[in-house]
Amino acid sequence: MRKKIVAGNWKMNNNAEETEDLLNDLIDKLPNDTEVQIIVAPTFVNLASAVDHLEFTNIVVAAQNMHQNENGAYTGEISADMLKSIGINTVILGHSERRAYFHETDTILAQKVTTALRHDMTIIFCFGEELKDRQDKQHFNVVENQLRDGLFHIQKEDWEKIILAYEPVWAIGTGETASPEQAQEMHEFIRETVLKRFGSSVAEEISILYGGSVKPENAKEIFSKPDVDGGLIGGAALKAVDFVKIIKGI
Ligand code: PEP
Repeated sequence: MRKKIVAGNWKMNNNAEETEDLLNDLIDKLPNDTEVQIIVAPTFVNLASAVDHLEFTNIVVAAQNMHQNENGAYTGEISADMLKSIGINTVILGHSERRAYFHETDTILAQKVTTALRHDMTIIFCFGEELKDRQDKQHFNVVENQLRDGLFHIQKEDWEKIILAYEPVWAIGTGETASPEQAQEMHEFIRETVLKRFGSSVAEEISILYGGSVKPENAKEIFSKPDVDGGLIGGAALKAVDFVKIIKGI
């Protein structure tokens, strides 16, 4: 069944103590009866402690990235096996900051996807157009290409390990949000694109999250759209009170 999901991408924020404080705050404030799948993605150095901390909760801990190769001379990088060995089974791939600042191309991302699937990991696959693409009315093409080049090499059965996160780059960390109608229009297009290539069973089951300046004030309206299955949250995930309000907005 298609899941409702809210994921918090903490980016390069929170040291060890702050991570623990935020997790405690989340545990205190989260409703016990929510059917929403909650995911948090702290930095690499705090992943192991987050897994320990959340052991008796339903909150999933995800990594923000991983390397495409299994091991070797890649100074500063983290492999899928390393993540799995500390209990991390979910990874964010293709975030626009990784694409823009660390030059992660669709080809590299396709390799990362293959590696993550080989390790039976769940992938939150991020993609979305830049402002110029939208101004040039190329946003549907850009999104279609990102999906095709990053994901369409996988098998139909692999899709149960994929969560899509549509994040228009112009809305990330800018305070600018796609309108609920813009989000719905693109999510519908994404579902149709998946349907054309992999069929309706995959398209109907896939969770498509929206990301880009989601806040407690706008979450409910965006999440009310039929093809929006939740959100990937950056800034507002750093305050438990806001993150929990967003979850309650579903
Ligand atoms: C993100 O980084 O994935 C994101 C959506 O950030 P923000 O919510 O801060 O725009």
